[in-house]
Amino acid sequence: MQRPGADLANMQPSDFICDFSLKAWDGSFPMVEGHRGSLISGDCLAVAYRFVVLASQSSLEPGYTCTMCLEERADPCWQSPVRPEAVICRRCIRQSATKLHTDPDWDWSKPTEDSKPE
Ligand SMILES: [Zn+2]
Ligand SMILES: [Zn+2]
Repeated sequence: MQRPGADLANMQPSDFICDFSLKAWDGSFPMVEGHRGSLISGDCLAVAYRFVVLASQSSLEPGYTCTMCLEERADPCWQSPVRPEAVICRRCIRQSATKLHTDPDWDWSKPTEDSKPE
């Protein structure tokens, strides 16, 4: 998301904030954009991927609204521990992970079963 009060005509990297960890972007880590300016950092995406895709868990029951695609979803999801209104559905997790995984600008790989959380 954009930092509240950011100057839209003169956006700085730090005006872009991860919806899930509220970490401001400094240009040094990957971010994936969803609809309406929603953003998820590579770190949060890795946590979401482990939780939903690898561990087959879900934070919420079906019927939640995904922050990234803005759709009402029935698949498993990950909810931000620091910002409960931020939720990402499994489809968006998979799409975002594939996007980052194949992005040559960033050294980001899909977590695997035996990779340890940082
Ligand atoms: Zn984040
Ligand atoms: Zn979604």
